[in-house]
Amino acid sequence: MLEVRIGPRPAPGEPLVGEGARTVALALEGERAAYLINAHRRGFGCLRKGPGVLGWPTVTDLPMPTRRPDGPLVDAFGRVARDLRVSVTDRCNLRCTYCMPAEGLPWLPKPEMLTDAELIRLVGVLVGLGVRQVRLTGGEPLLRRSLPDVVAGIAALDPRPTIAMTTNGIGLDRLAAPLAAAGLDRVNVSLDTIDRGEFLALTRRDRLADVERGLQAAAAAGLAPVKVNAVAMRGINDADVADLLQWCMERGYELRFIEQMPLDAGHEWQATSMVTADEVEQRLRERFTLTPVPGRGSAPAERFLIDGGPATVGIIASVSRPFCGDCDRVRLTADGQVRNCLFANSEADLRTPLRSGATDADLAQVIRDEMWRKAPGHGIGTSGFHQPDRPMSAIGG
Ligand code: SF4
Repeated sequence: MLEVRIGPRPAPGEPLVGEGARTVALALEGERAAYLINAHRRGFGCLRKGPGVLGWPTVTDLPMPTRRPDGPLVDAFGRVARDLRVSVTDRCNLRCTYCMPAEGLPWLPKPEMLTDAELIRLVGVLVGLGVRQVRLTGGEPLLRRSLPDVVAGIAALDPRPTIAMTTNGIGLDRLAAPLAAAGLDRVNVSLDTIDRGEFLALTRRDRLADVERGLQAAAAAGLAPVKVNAVAMRGINDADVADLLQWCMERGYELRFIEQMPLDAGHEWQATSMVTADEVEQRLRERFTLTPVPGRGSAPAERFLIDGGPATVGIIASVSRPFCGDCDRVRLTADGQVRNCLFANSEADLRTPLRSGATDADLAQVIRDEMWRKAPGHGIGTSGFHQPDRPMSAIGG
């Protein structure tokens, strides 16, 4: 009898079989399904704890399954996509050194960008496939003038997904209230330093005060909890991580540190110079007492209570402890390409069929096929890793 024990990391007492694993297993036969277990034994996902912990069987390499099941938006490794990241523009008003060159990048031509109606329709197709959270990203999403209309259109979908946004915060002082009124639920603001000189050096723009005003407006508009996303970079801001946490705590913002990933336009990222999650944690422990918060589920952030709580800090070890085995993400670019992973080297074109009269069912089929091809993980640090050609600003974080 086949026993499949994969899926999202189970909470204590929960069954080990995830919805996606069950769906894939049902569509497969006998030993073929065992490859699912094998995928996780390669170090992706919940088995990174070590197979001995859960007593999982030893499985050798098995062929990939060839049949794609219906049901939820599932990939060949049994993961179910529920979290959609939509890049609404590739433009940005900062020039972060780790993201794009000083002169910017060639932006997507306007005719190639999805219109509001096209974007909302595609999000609707994905909601029909089981997406339950939509995160708007960029580039800088606030640069899309029609963003409140986009949010309102997504909020009108049935079932209504949760709507979040990742932004650099510039312009949020004006837009937080209208976006909240249109249906935005939550916001993450990217902010790596609260030192004005460092901010200028990192972003090549003197806009720290704008970001601070944006954060205040987000809190005032009820986009709670307001989260701050930070990347620690060696020799630039890594010595100041505790200051940033202190600053966020005093203002009621929830800080999350994210390991820097190889998505820069210049392809200059190096594993050896990356500040690891462990280093960040160690630096924070020099000033604060951190207590792990149990019940992480499939969330990427490891959360800690600060000095006993209730304030928390999150640390996301995307590179050193990848959580790809629990990944529930799918991405849509501003020019209408569906991507199954941040690091995918392929994408499927939805814009052309959309503009050629495709039905929702046709579009859903393209999305399903692309998701089925999703790799087990990003593979950073392996010989086969190839940084995607699209820069981060054109993928969406
Ligand atoms: S790298 Fe790809 S598979 Fe891994 S968590 Fe990110 S999007 Fe998911």
